[in-house]
Formats: sequence, structure tokens, C-alpha cells
Amino acid sequence: MTAMPVMPRPSILSVEPYVGGESKVPGVNRIIKLSSNEGAFGPPPGAIAAIAESAKEAHRYPDGGATAIREAIGRRFGLDPARIVCGNGSDELLSMLILAYGGEGTELVMSAHGFMMYDITGRWAGCRVIKVPERNLTADVDGLLAAVGPRTTMMFLANPNNPTGSILPQSEVERLRAGLRDDILLVLDSAYAEYVTRPDYDPGVRLVDAATNTVMCRTFSKIFGMGGMRLGWAYAPPAIVDVLGRVRGPFNVNASAMAAGIAALAERGWVETSVEHNTRERARVAAALTGAGLKVWPSEGNFLLVDFGTADRAKAADAHLRSRGLIVRAMGGYGLAKCLRVTIGTSEECGLVIEALTAFARG
Ligand SMILES: *Cc1c(COP(=O)(O)O)cnc(C)c1O
Repeated sequence: MTAMPVMPRPSILSVEPYVGGESKVPGVNRIIKLSSNEGAFGPPPGAIAAIAESAKEAHRYPDGGATAIREAIGRRFGLDPARIVCGNGSDELLSMLILAYGGEGTELVMSAHGFMMYDITGRWAGCRVIKVPERNLTADVDGLLAAVGPRTTMMFLANPNNPTGSILPQSEVERLRAGLRDDILLVLDSAYAEYVTRPDYDPGVRLVDAATNTVMCRTFSKIFGMGGMRLGWAYAPPAIVDVLGRVRGPFNVNASAMAAGIAALAERGWVETSVEHNTRERARVAAALTGAGLKVWPSEGNFLLVDFGTADRAKAADAHLRSRGLIVRAMGGYGLAKCLRVTIGTSEECGLVIEALTAFARG
């Protein structure tokens, strides 16, 4: 009998699995992980306590409606909880949106160095993913609009973008939305919104409120330091909330994540302290590396994209950092092999990055 393997849909096999930031270096004891933009300070203390407390009720199914966390998010950001949908990380919300509005026969448009999950999820869902060249590693609104075709149903924009750190001002995002057909869903992924200090920025709320075809996605994985809990949320028009309610699993967000999220939002000064730290340390690292002769791209997130000129030199820099226990993110998967992405950690960690890369740049 010939073996007939079970086969997935062909589009699945066109996808390379997502490779996350590494966390180990053989032979090095103290590891400093600056490869996944996880926030500099760990989880908020109140969130740690809430997770421990939630363990006592671990036999109970969580609230499938995520009512308390949606209300807490709504209060914090001044939004109607009825228009908030929570996900097992914002990645899950991105997947649900793509499964609901994309898929076989559709096109998904994104910026060339946009967040990789749009490409991965779009392709396994069966979309044709169109990547639009950027200007200065920044999304090009005219290019994005020109790439739209009759089969385009979705456009994704991370703002600020990971891994480039670049941002579009509100006026440009508005121009993008205005130039898109009404039947194209624009997903604004604002995973780094809290870190932005520019006054001409809006995370997406205004555009979601203005029409029926724009969604904003947010996460607790970055400034709130809870990537391991998997908690993200979308703010969406009512009809899209309805659709997400149909496609999501009934208990997609676990009880500990929701309890931790509520506690994180209640943590006094957490966001303010984190933003202040990030703005200061990001500027310090950027200035030091620039001073050492490296090219550092401007960033509005909690990370910096450092350009070493060639892929070989970036590789050598990566090896040098690793030998000192510093793990950053290689960018080959993003087509930026001559760059490394460095997360802004504590002041001490930033100091170690500066020391290591300055020594490297001096040769
Ligand atoms: C980290 C990140 C996410 C994923 O967030 P989760 O909530 O942890 O799934 C989404 N979008 C961008 C741009 C990110 O950098």
C-alpha cells in the first residue's frame, strides 16, 4: 500500500514558521534578552500578584465575554467597552481579522518591512500578500494606495512599525484611509502606541470612530510587560465586533491574563515611568551608537534598528554581542540582514549595549 500523507492546504506550506527572539547563548551565564521588545521593567508588580491570586480559581472557565478587562480598557482609554474585543495576544486578533476578511482569492497589502505576522498569517490564510516598497524605511502612502487592486480586501499598517521604528503622522494615516475604497479593511496595529511622544500621532481611535472599515489593535506585551500572558485587544466598529464575536473561540483569553491586565492598567505611574525611561534611554543609545559611527534609524518604539552597512558586519556585531550575553534580533527574515534590532532594556542593559557596540565599531 502506498502511503498517502495527509496534506494541509497548499498555502500553508508556503509559510516559513515565525522565529521568535532567542533567549539562550551556550556557555554564557548571564543572558540579557533584548530581542523581543518586551518592555524594560518586567511585569507590573500588581499584575504578578493578580496572576498568583487567579491561580486559586484555575479550575473555573474564564469569563468568555471578557467583561471586566474590556471595561477596564474602556475606562483607561476612554472607549466604549462594547467596541473592544480581546484576544490571546493581538496576534490572535490579526489572525481572526485575516480569516474573516481575507483568505483565498483576496489580496492583503502591507509595507515592505511591516510586521512579519501579516505576511505569515496572510499567506497561510491563502491571501496574496503584496509588500509595498518604503521610503527611508517608512511606509509610503502613495505606494500603498497604488498597490491596491480589485481583489484587495485588507491593508495592514503597524504604526509605529516594528522592526523599523518609523511612524506615520495622523495626517498621513488619514490620507491613506481616505484614498482606500470603503470596502477595504484598514488594520492599524498600534502595539507601541504608548511609547510615542510625538503630538501629531493618533493610535487609530479617531479613524475607527469615523467610519465602519478601520480597526485598531493594541497589546499588553510591550509597555505593560506581559508578553507571556498573551493579551491583546481590538477597537472596532460594531459590525466588525460582531464578526470577531463569531470567529473567536469562546474562552480565547485566559483568566490570569485578564486579571493581570486589569491590575496592569491600575498600576500607578507605570506607563509614565516606562515612557520617560524609554525616551531617555533610546536617545542615549542612539546618540552613543551614532557617535561610534553606526547608523541608527529614528524610532518611536522601545527598540532601535541599527544599520551595520553589510550583512557580514551585522553578523559579526551579533556574534560580538552574544559573546557578552546580549541577545538582540537579527533582521534577515525582514530583508534587513545588514541591521540588528535592539530592544531598550534597563539603564544598565543599555549601558552594556553601548559598551559592546562601541568596542565593536572601533574594531
Ligand atoms: C509585538 C507585536 C505584536 C504582537 O503582540 P501580541 O499581543 O504579543 O500578540 C503585534 N504587532 C506588532 C507590530 C508587534 O511588534
